[in-house]
Amino acid sequence: MDNKFQKIRNDFPILKQKVNDEPLAYLDNAATSQKPQAVIDEIVRYYQNDNANTHRSVHTLGERATEEYEEARGKVQKFINAPESREIIFTKGTTDSLNLLAATYGETNINAGDEIVVSYMEHHSNLIPWQQLALRKHATLKYIELTADGQLDMDDASRKITDKTKIVAIAHVSNVLGVTNDIKKLAAITHQHNAVIIVDGAQAVPHQPVDVQALDVDFYAFSGHKMLGPMGIGVLYGKSKLLNAMPPYQYGGEMINFVEKYQSTWTDIPWKFEAGTQNVIGAIGLGKAIDYLTEIGMQNIADYEHELVSYALPKMLGIPGITVYGPHDSTVHNGVISFNLTNLHPHDLATALDMDGVAVRAGHHCAQPLMKYLGVVATARASFYFYNNRADVDQLLQAIQETKEFFK
Ligand code: PLP
Repeated sequence: MDNKFQKIRNDFPILKQKVNDEPLAYLDNAATSQKPQAVIDEIVRYYQNDNANTHRSVHTLGERATEEYEEARGKVQKFINAPESREIIFTKGTTDSLNLLAATYGETNINAGDEIVVSYMEHHSNLIPWQQLALRKHATLKYIELTADGQLDMDDASRKITDKTKIVAIAHVSNVLGVTNDIKKLAAITHQHNAVIIVDGAQAVPHQPVDVQALDVDFYAFSGHKMLGPMGIGVLYGKSKLLNAMPPYQYGGEMINFVEKYQSTWTDIPWKFEAGTQNVIGAIGLGKAIDYLTEIGMQNIADYEHELVSYALPKMLGIPGITVYGPHDSTVHNGVISFNLTNLHPHDLATALDMDGVAVRAGHHCAQPLMKYLGVVATARASFYFYNNRADVDQLLQAIQETKEFFK
């Protein structure tokens, strides 16, 4: 293992603690990531020195806050290679970004008889907004099937996306199955039918380089808290042509041009979609997280995590009585491993692992249709980030073995 990554762990104060007298092995990164000292310091620095409301004041602090907020937008633009910074809208997170799209783009572009295509591996955030939109508009919601090993069935995608399709809403990386979808190919299929592709990048942007121009996506959503940033900040990228044509999401301060007694006009993107006081420190904290990730390099992070999965996955598959969902081939499996142990409810398993200092999530992972598709009610899920190491994996494996013995 790369020595650099061993040192990086020291940047995360929370990881130094013990849980239930054991070193903490934090393997719940798909739920949220931990924060490096640099991001924590940035939040304190901003509140100690620069805090003011943005875009409103001509005083020095107001100007500083506005400058830092807009600088953070520029960092996000560069990070995902968006053509223009005005194509970056700050939101509360992936869920908020996708709801914004359903309420604006969806509301104005979907009509009775239109089709919206999703897949069986969608998180509820990228499913319910489209399901409810389809119900409101009498449109049809179609699901792309999965292959036997839990990958997106691209042949079925080609069949399901037709000239009736108006929106394809798809995860870049599954939060359950450990697979990365071929977004570039899906975007090409979608555009052949003059539809738009909306990508849920919540599990992708933290873990691999993402280039929205190379992927040719129309909209791309992600959350700051899964990539070292604070909670309550997220991003919606959209092509400017599409964003300009969309109505506002919410009304109030900051998003207007002129307000008269009986009518109003809207300001330009991105501010048209940022009504009211924004999560300024969230954006600035996310900007700092991006600085931190950029310094390590997203390809280095992807390679390191792949190495960690290549170590963990075969060992987990070797445990008698374990079922791992998603591909068993570590060359196509990323750092999310969902699993069950025979005769043990995943909640009991996760509770037992916590006794050994290992934090994993158990449940339906906000993907109930996927659980049904897999024929389970829930799974346990270990999810890695670049500050995890082989010692965390070994601690997980040992805790699983001990749990098996205990419940025998
Ligand atoms: N999409 C995926 C694939 C996720 O994993 C998550 C979070 O777990 C979300 C969407 C929702 O993200 P948030 O709760 O930050 O809005």
